Formats: sequence, C-alpha cells, structure tokens
Amino acid sequence: MKHQYDLIVIGGGAAGLTASGVAVSLGAKTMMIEKARLGGDCTWYGCVPSKVLLNLGKKTALSGKPVDFSVVRKKLDNIRHDIYEEADDPEKFREMGIDVEEGEATFTDKQTIRIKNSDGILREVSSKYFVIATGAKAFVPPIPGLDKTPHLTNHNLFEIDELPKSMIIVGGGPIGTEMAQAFQNLGTKITVVDMLDTILVNDHPDLTAILKEHLEKQGVTYELGAGVKSVSGNKNSVEVTIERGGKTKVLKGEKLLMATGRRANYEPLNLDAAGVQTGKQGVTVNDKCRTNVKHIYAIGDVTGRYQFTHMSEHMAKIAVSNALLKFPMKMDHKHVPWVTYTDPEVAHVGATQKQLDETGVKYATYKFPYNMIDRAITDEKTEGWIYVYAKKLNGKILGADIIGAHAGELISQYALAMKNGVTLKNMADTIYPYPSYALGARRAADQWYVRNQSVGLVKWIKRIFGYRGPLPDLSDPDKIV
Ligand SMILES: Cc1cc2nc3c(=O)[nH]c(=O)nc-3n(C[C@H](O)[C@H](O)[C@H](O)COP(=O)(O)OP(=O)(O)OC[C@H]3O[C@@H](n4cnc5c(N)ncnc54)[C@H](O)[C@@H]3O)c2cc1C
Repeated sequence: MKHQYDLIVIGGGAAGLTASGVAVSLGAKTMMIEKARLGGDCTWYGCVPSKVLLNLGKKTALSGKPVDFSVVRKKLDNIRHDIYEEADDPEKFREMGIDVEEGEATFTDKQTIRIKNSDGILREVSSKYFVIATGAKAFVPPIPGLDKTPHLTNHNLFEIDELPKSMIIVGGGPIGTEMAQAFQNLGTKITVVDMLDTILVNDHPDLTAILKEHLEKQGVTYELGAGVKSVSGNKNSVEVTIERGGKTKVLKGEKLLMATGRRANYEPLNLDAAGVQTGKQGVTVNDKCRTNVKHIYAIGDVTGRYQFTHMSEHMAKIAVSNALLKFPMKMDHKHVPWVTYTDPEVAHVGATQKQLDETGVKYATYKFPYNMIDRAITDEKTEGWIYVYAKKLNGKILGADIIGAHAGELISQYALAMKNGVTLKNMADTIYPYPSYALGARRAADQWYVRNQSVGLVKWIKRIFGYRGPLPDLSDPDKIV
C-alpha cells in the first residue's frame, strides 16, 4: 500500500526538527506536525530562557544595582524570538521541502494519524514511518496542598512579569540549581529544598560541593536532606512544610518553583491504536530508537532516556538513519556530555567516577586545578578543577568532570577525544595555545606522563650520559606538576 508520506515526525522541538531535517535531506517525503510553536521546550521553556536569565542575573550582580524586570522580560522574549527566527521558523523548514503542519496528532492505527488543528479541523494522513518526538513536561509530585497552591514550573516561570522578592525552589537538580543562581543574582531571595543531601546528584560530589558553597556565598539557602510534607498559599505568598530527621520546619516565600523532574509526554497520542508500548520512563525504545512497532521510532525527551537537547539531536539522527537507510546505527551511551550553566559551570562526559568504581574498571584519576591555569589566574577565575579518569597504561580516557569557568566548552575536548580514541598521551603531545583554559586540559593530560615516569629509566639516562641531577620524586601520587 502506498502511503501519503515516507516519514511523519510528531513534535517540532529539538528532536523533531532534527529528524525532519535529516529525513528530507535523505530524499524522504516528510511531514512535521507541531501543536504549538516549533522550537519546543528548548527555545521557549528550557535551555534558551534559562541561559538568558543566568546571563542577566550575572550582569545584575556585577552592576550592584537593582534590576528593571521589565527589561529582563523584554530580553527573554526578544532572544527567544531571535532564536526561533534563526533556527525554528516554519518557513525555513518548508523551504527545505518539509510539510510543516500545525495541529495535534493522534494515532488512529499503526499507519495513520489524525491531525486536529487549532480551528478543530480534522485531517488524516498515512506514512510508511513515524518518529514520535513529543517531548516531556514538568513532573509535579503529589504533595498535599500543591494542587490548590499557585506554583511555577519551567512552563510559566519565564512568563512572569514581576521579580519575586523570595522564591522557594523544590529540586536541586540542573534546573533548580541554574534558576537558584539566576534569580538570586537578579535579586530574589532563594531557598532550595531537596530530599537528597547533595545538589546535582549525577555530577561528582567534590565538584557539586564547591558549587553549593559558591551559591551559599551568593545568598542561596539550602535545605537538603529534607522532604516536603505539604504546601499552602496563594498568589502572593506560599508556605512549604519540610521534614528532616523527624523535625518539621515551615519555609515562607513569595513564589514556589517546582523543579522536581520531567515526565514523558505521550498520553494524547493514543499510542494504543498503534500498539506502541510505554514504560516507566516514557515511550520504550531500543538502542536504534525503535519502538516495539517496527516502523515507529521515538526520540528525545519522550523516551525519558536522556533529557538533553544534544541527545534529542543525536537520537534523531539514529532513528532516521535506521528507518530510511536501514543503516544499523546505535545510540552512543559512552560519550554523553552534560553541563550545568551556573557560574562556575559544572560539566561531565563519559563514565562517572562512581560508575567506574561500581564496575571495577581499573583507572587512574588525573586532576588539575584552575588555580594553576594561567588564563584562569589572569581572569581571576581560579575556582575550579578538571578531573579526568583514564587507563594508566595507555591514557585511554574513560570520563571527565570539570567545574570552573568555561567548563561547558572544555568538556567538548574530552568528548571529541573519547569518541575518536585520542588518549591523554595524545593530548599531552598536542600544542595548545598559551594562555588558554584549554591549556588546562593539556596540563591535566601532562599528569599522565608525570605518573608514568620511571625512576629506573632516568637512572639509565643518567648513567649513559653522565648526568648529575636528582631522580624523580614519585613518593606523592597526588602531586600535581
Ligand atoms: C528549564 C530547562 C532548561 C534546560 N536546559 C538545557 C540545557 O541547557 N541543555 C540541554 O541540552 N537541555 C536542556 N534542557 C532540556 C531540553 O530542553 C530538552 O531535552 C529538549 O527540549 C527535548 O527536546 P524534544 O524535542 O524531545 O522535546 P520538546 O522540546 O518538548 O518538543 C516536543 C514538541 O512536541 C509538541 N507536541 C507534543 N505533543 C504533540 C502532539 N500530539 N502533536 C503535535 N505536537 C506535539 C510540543 O508542543 C513540543 O513543541 C532544559 C530543560 C528545561 C526545562
């Protein structure tokens, strides 16, 4: 049976936009359906507005003057629209040859979807392949009183017109942490509550402890290891009752931001009609991003696998290559980077130290502090560390954690190196410009040479050439040179 399309993409966020672009570039007759605005969470409710607030917060704190929040609002809107026009404008995708359709899609059977546009008009279309890219929404836990208490999530946070005097943020993950710093810098008194004892639980505890201390110095109050028992309040004030070690405490603030995670968004798709299975995290996919129904793929946040824009794009390429080219590409789980864009930034790629310890892999940690990176010294940005985990024998890099200025840029050095088999030895042998932050990466790699120094070899050199200097002192394995 001939279908109307070769491939239909449902959802026009980071995942859907990439999938549609790749599909049309491979010659497929492609439709992309979006119920709201192209760009999805990243442009409108996620990456972009959060980074705008971080930037404006930093500028406000540096100026020492109170912020005019109407200017912040205008900037938030203007920058989001600039990015939308530059990257997400439907006309650009139509020019590429993609049929961009406004409306909400639901499956009617395995091969057909129904699109309902904002005027309520229905239309059915069929396709050989489908890519589900319908994203995620904020997960709000069932806390007593929350349903009756006005609260913010990432969906309405970037639309507020007045700067709150104080805000309680529930959740010390990347969103809660970035917004804690942004709003504290803008002038809001921030309290962060989390049931865990650390913030950014997926990052290295040494590094997140540094960030937490930094945020505390900026004025953020942390209530960690504390569960939220109940909330109450109205649009002007909220009360959050927390419990720690059997003791309760009532926190008061003007606004409440729930940053308690994200949940896959697939309910309106009527996946039962297509027979697509879902699990705890979202639409269930294998490493080819294929669902249990052979011609239906799912990518990005809706799968609940990795909720990052770059992973949405990665999954889009995997899914479309598998569907259209029958090219058996698999998701890369080994080299996934992530960054929290606070000041200082916290970045990671590859295996975490905890994972390496749990799996019993033999590795060594090579550390380098920012206070030995000359560019960080000249910039007065000496707070930071580079941690690299690598095989002692050949310098094969297994993972890296960085906290410090430009950590989000530096981490790509390690992502590129790991993906392409570049070792610490190779990095140490590469010429890096002085004085740059990247030179810190080379100097971290130098530590591999230092630790592989051989006293025996130096003894031989001394004997052969008659040199009279000292032998290397390897008594302190943690010595940084
Ligand atoms: C505050 C915040 C900050 C973030 N910061 C970063 C960051 O710095 N770096 C990073 O990598 N990631 C960040 N993320 C995560 C990132 O935004 C997401 O991983 C990414 O947007 C996921 O893209 P997606 O295409 O899977 O989903 P989405 O962007 O959510 O797109 C899904 C689209 O599908 C549409 N849709 C849903 N159902 C239907 C339907 N039935 N029919 C038609 N259309 C439908 C929706 O309207 C939406 O436009 C952040 C997220 C948040 C919330």
